[in-house]
Amino acid sequence: MTFTTLNASQLINKKRAQIAVLSEELFQLEKEQFMTDATIDAQTKKQMLDDLTTAQQFVLTVNELRTHHLGYPGNFKQNSPLYHHFRQLEAELPLLNNIGDIFDEGNARLHSKKWERDILNLFAEKFGLTDNWWGYLTSGGSESNDWAINQGRSLLPDSIFYHSTGAHYSITKSSTNFMSEAIPTCGPDDERINVDLLTQRIQENYERLGLAANIVLTWGTTKYGAIDDVWAVKKFLIAHHIPHYLHLDAAHFGGIPNNQIGAPIIDDIRSLGVHSISVSLHKYIGLPQVKGVLLSVEEPATQNAVDYIGQKDTTSCGSRDLLPFSTKQQVLEMLKLSDPNDYQRNIRYFEARLNERKIPFIRYAYSNTFVIAEPSSEICSHYQLSQFKNDTGHKKAHVIIFPYQSQAQLLALANDLANDSKAQSDMTLNFKQRVLQTNES
Ligand SMILES: *Cc1c(COP(=O)(O)O)cnc(C)c1O
Repeated sequence: MTFTTLNASQLINKKRAQIAVLSEELFQLEKEQFMTDATIDAQTKKQMLDDLTTAQQFVLTVNELRTHHLGYPGNFKQNSPLYHHFRQLEAELPLLNNIGDIFDEGNARLHSKKWERDILNLFAEKFGLTDNWWGYLTSGGSESNDWAINQGRSLLPDSIFYHSTGAHYSITKSSTNFMSEAIPTCGPDDERINVDLLTQRIQENYERLGLAANIVLTWGTTKYGAIDDVWAVKKFLIAHHIPHYLHLDAAHFGGIPNNQIGAPIIDDIRSLGVHSISVSLHKYIGLPQVKGVLLSVEEPATQNAVDYIGQKDTTSCGSRDLLPFSTKQQVLEMLKLSDPNDYQRNIRYFEARLNERKIPFIRYAYSNTFVIAEPSSEICSHYQLSQFKNDTGHKKAHVIIFPYQSQAQLLALANDLANDSKAQSDMTLNFKQRVLQTNES
C-alpha cells in the first residue's frame, strides 16, 4: 500500500473542491425549496432564474475584463484568506449604520464605528498623525474633498476658494456657490498648478480685499499624475501671514504604502502644512467597493448636535456604511504587508517596453501614469484606456500601472501600441518623451 501525503496547498485545493461541490448542492436544494413556494408566480420565478444566469455570466465577464483594464486607477490585488473569510462573516451582519460622528456612540447601537476608527487610525499612522486627528470613511474621494472644501469655508467665511484647472472634477462641483478662482496649470502637458499665478492671486485678494485663502492642491492629478508644489505654496502663505486652509487631494497616490521605493509617498502631513487630506480606497488600496478616507488635523468646524441621532452630525453624508472587517484587513494588508518593490516593478517593466518600441510618453518622476498619444479606438476599448484632450486640444490617453497587473498584459499593450498606425502618425505631434521632475524642496 502506498500513501501519498498532500502538501498544504494540495490539501487546500482538495478541500476547496469538496466545498464547491457541497455548496452547489446545498444551493440547489435551498433554491428548489424557495422556488416551490406557492406565493411566487411563474413569471417572477422565471425572472429570478434568468437573473441568476445573467449574474453568473456577469461575474465571468467582469473578471475577464479585469485582466485588460489598464486605463483607470484600481489596484485589483489578490486578497488573503483572512480577507475572504471576513467577507463571509460580513454576510452575517445586519444593517450597521455609522450615522453621525466617528467618535460618538449615539443612540443606535447597530454600527461598526470601532472598525471605522481602526481604519482611520491606520491612515493617521501612515500620514504621521499620532493623535489629535479627526476623520471618517467617506463614499469616495469626491465626498472627502467636499467635506474639506466646506471645512475651509466654515473656518474662513471671508475667503476665496482656489483650485487648479487640473484638479479633479469633484472640486468645482463642491464649490459652485463659493467665490472661487481656477488657477491654470504649468502648461498643456504639465498638470501641476502654476504656483506663481496662485500665490500672486492669493496675495492680491488678501491685500486688496482682506480675503483669506481656502485652497485645494492635488497630490497626483487624475490625468497626468502631477504633484502640486505644496511646499512652495505653504512657504508663501506663512511668509506673508495669509490666513488659509489647505486641503490635499491625494485620491490615488495617498494610498501608496510608506515602504514603497521610488513612489510619491506622503508620510507626514503636518510637516507638509496641510489641514486635511483625502484618499480613495478603491484606487491604490484596491478595495473592491467605492470608498474614501478623509483625515483632518482639526475638529470639524460645524458640530450640529442632532437630538434624533443623539450625536453630532459632522460628516458630509448622513447615513454611512462600510464592510468593516474586510475593509480594515485590505487596508492593513496593503499598508503593512506590501513588498517595497511592488510599486516600481511594473512601472520599470512597462517603461522599458515602451522605450524599446520608441513609443513616446509623458510620465512624472515617481508617477505610475503614462500619458500617450490617443491610440486607435480598438486599443482604447480593449485596454479600457481613458481618453482626454490636453489644454491645447491634443488627444491623449493614459495607462496607469499597478502591482497587480501581469507583465504579459503590459507587454501585449506595448506591442499593440507599437503596431497601431494611429499612434504612429500622432507621434510627431508636439510629443516628446520625457520624465517630468516633481519639485521637491
Ligand atoms: C479619483 C480622484 C478623486 C475622487 O474620486 P472618487 O472616485 O470619488 O474616489 C479625487 N481627486 C482625484 C485627483 C482623483 O484622481
